[in-house]
Amino acid sequence: MKAQVLHSYDPEMKQDVWVKEEEVPNPKLEKASDVIVKIGAAGVCRTDLHVIEGEWRHIQDPDDKLLPCVMGHENAGWIEEVGSDVEGFKKGDSVILHPIISGTNGTCLSCRKGLDTHAENGIFPGLNVKEGGYSELLKTSVRNLIKIPNTLTPKDVAPFSDAGLTAYRVAKKATRHLLPGENCVVIGAGGLGHIAIQCLKAMCAANIIIVEKSETALKHAMPLGGDHGVLNDGNEVERVMELTKGLGAEASMGLSMTKNTGSYYIVGYGEDIKIKSVDMIISERNIIGNLIGTWSELYELMELANKDLVRLSMQEYKLSEANKALHDLNNGLVKGRAVLVP
Ligand code: ZN
Repeated sequence: MKAQVLHSYDPEMKQDVWVKEEEVPNPKLEKASDVIVKIGAAGVCRTDLHVIEGEWRHIQDPDDKLLPCVMGHENAGWIEEVGSDVEGFKKGDSVILHPIISGTNGTCLSCRKGLDTHAENGIFPGLNVKEGGYSELLKTSVRNLIKIPNTLTPKDVAPFSDAGLTAYRVAKKATRHLLPGENCVVIGAGGLGHIAIQCLKAMCAANIIIVEKSETALKHAMPLGGDHGVLNDGNEVERVMELTKGLGAEASMGLSMTKNTGSYYIVGYGEDIKIKSVDMIISERNIIGNLIGTWSELYELMELANKDLVRLSMQEYKLSEANKALHDLNNGLVKGRAVLVP
């Protein structure tokens, strides 16, 4: 099969070619619970840029044995082949793949609690193993599959399996406590933010304040559910304080905009959070980490998409254009999410 292969890291992010199209062996069923999926769409994620940059190296490749590898952890497609234990799925079914495969076939305590992202010995195709979705076929487990509603196709949903799921999980956590009349600040209305705004809108009636640095992106994001739009131009904290009567928001994606007793949800990574412990005591604010989402949350997100309450803004590239998609993303030229299709 064809795959786009990463051969070396590029810490400077200056190379013209990051991945190369090559013929690689087809995946084979090994466990009876294995499923081989014909990739219909693979999302191109900022995490892929961090992989190329080598930011994940100390975690995912400490022995320096990962490369060459195939990236692509946001995958959807059609079932090609199923193992002997697989029930309820057949060749041709369209499916989205939860990104983390349990190392215990779902029998560890985390998996039994439904905490799929904390599965013991979990593997993450496209990130910490050689195989990923920038290819024609990918092996997964039956536990990872969710059927895509008839109203949608693999390319409508592929980025939901990571980016969308992260946005959904954060929105779900926040909407469990956000009440009408309270405020929620979403910083960034891009690939992940535009999904978070729709999830928040679909699940609660709090005021949504969108903070975004691009005027165009802010204009596009407002109709998705924004009550107030604030340009991220250096005065954004003051503007949010004005909008929240000097108190800050009950839920926010920025600590300086979070009200006393409110919650700051961390989405994405790359910077440090510094705060004095005494300030945490006085403010009683919560800082909450978010790692993708669970299988059942991906199911819930598919239901929102099926009702057209959450719609992905997407830019399509051929698998053969993976390199261009990655460079476009790195250069800020992708609106919404980039998706590779066969
Ligand atoms: Zn991703």
